[in-house]
Amino acid sequence: MSETTWRYDRLTWVEMKDAIAHDPQPVVAIPIGAVEDHGPHLPISTDNDILEGVLAECGRLAAGDLLVLPTIPFGLDEHHMDFPGVIAIDIETTLAYLAQTAISVARHGFTHILIVNGHGSNHAICDLAARKCVLATGVICAATTVNAAVDPSLVADVLNAERRGGPGSIGHACEYETAMMLHLHSDTVQMDKARRDIGQLKLKYFNWDHPEPSAYAWQDWWSRFSAEGVCGDAAAATPDFGKRMFDLTVERFVELVREFRTIPIRPRVDHH
Ligand SMILES: [Zn+2]
Repeated sequence: MSETTWRYDRLTWVEMKDAIAHDPQPVVAIPIGAVEDHGPHLPISTDNDILEGVLAECGRLAAGDLLVLPTIPFGLDEHHMDFPGVIAIDIETTLAYLAQTAISVARHGFTHILIVNGHGSNHAICDLAARKCVLATGVICAATTVNAAVDPSLVADVLNAERRGGPGSIGHACEYETAMMLHLHSDTVQMDKARRDIGQLKLKYFNWDHPEPSAYAWQDWWSRFSAEGVCGDAAAATPDFGKRMFDLTVERFVELVREFRTIPIRPRVDHH
C-alpha cells in the first residue's frame, strides 16, 4: 500500500474497482473550501490548508476506511469580495458543481459519501448538495466539517473549555483557525499582525461566536463589520492549542467516518 492510498485520485481505475468491491467499502470524502481573506496574518489559502491538513492525517489513520477527493478550492464568497484576492463562486454554480461531484462518486457504486466543508458560507450548499445526491442516487450522502470555526459540533466540548480568548474569540481567522495554522503551517502565519477583532454584533437571539448557538442565520458583507478580515481573537492563538484541536479533530473524525459507514441503506416504501 502506498503512502497516498487514502487519496481517491491516486488510485488507478483498477484499484478503484477493488475499493468499490471491498467489504466494508471505504467512505468517500469530498472536501470543499475557499480562497478568501483571513486577516493580515494568515494566507488566503487558510480554509483549504486546514481541510487538507486534517483530512490527510485522517486518511492515513483510517487505513483504507477513507478515500479523500482533491479539495474543491473555491466556494460561495461574494460577501468577502471587498478584500483583495478572494475568489467568489455563486450559489447555483457551487451547488451544481458539488452535487455533480458527489453524484459521480455514487454512480461508480460508492454507498457512503461525506461532503466535508472548510468554509462557513458553503454550509447550506453542502447540505443541499448532499440531499441532491441522496435524491438522485439513493446512497447515504451527508455534509460535515473538520473546521471548528465553521461548525464546532465535532469538538465543541474541548474547544469551549480550552480556548483562551473567551466569548467571541472563535469566528473567522480567529483563535481556532490561527492556532490550526500555527500547528500545520507556522511559516505562513505572521503572529505580529494577529489581532483581536470582535466586530460582529452579539444580540439576544443572534450570536456569531461559533461554539454558542444562534437563533437565526445572517451573513453580512464582511467589510461592514470586520476591519481586517478577522472575527475573533487571533492574538490568543497558540501552536499548542492548534495541536490539541488538530489531534482531537483527527481522532474524532476517523471515529465519525467509521460510524457513518455503518448507516444502512434501508428500502423505500411506496404507500400510494
Ligand atoms: Zn476560514
